[in-house]
Amino acid sequence: MKNICDWNNCKDLGEYKAPKEKDNSKKFRMLCLKHIKEFNKNWNYFSGMSDSQVTDFLKSDMTWHKPTQSFSSSDNFFKVLWNNTFKFDHKDIKAFEILGLNVGMKWVEIQEKFKVLVKKFHPDMNLGNKKYEEKLKLITLAYTQLKNTYREKIDT
Ligand SMILES: [Zn+2]
Repeated sequence: MKNICDWNNCKDLGEYKAPKEKDNSKKFRMLCLKHIKEFNKNWNYFSGMSDSQVTDFLKSDMTWHKPTQSFSSSDNFFKVLWNNTFKFDHKDIKAFEILGLNVGMKWVEIQEKFKVLVKKFHPDMNLGNKKYEEKLKLITLAYTQLKNTYREKIDT
């Protein structure tokens, strides 16, 4: 019997094991090569962060995503951590960086920041300075990236 990749809507063969939770549990989900790579990238995202950074990230996310959840148990903590790992991919993370925002900010806050940045880097305000035009292009791309992410992956 062949496994099908466990990733959302993927129909490829799942030939690679990925742990289901970030503890020592022996449960696995099977993924295809492309998605095991994606998985590892997202998994590593947290590896350089201290516990408090991870907690801050999750808290900032939860205050708008799932207000009823709490860190009452470590089980729950890892469950939330796990869900967040998949919510944002490396492009999203990059986009947050470009906009100078913490990962997982509320959508309205992203919109606010975007407005401020557009005003700041608009060519009309900068006598057609090429560097600012480039910057504005990057900001717009980052904003579009997050807009799509929030629409597709996150129930705002
Ligand atoms: Zn797949």
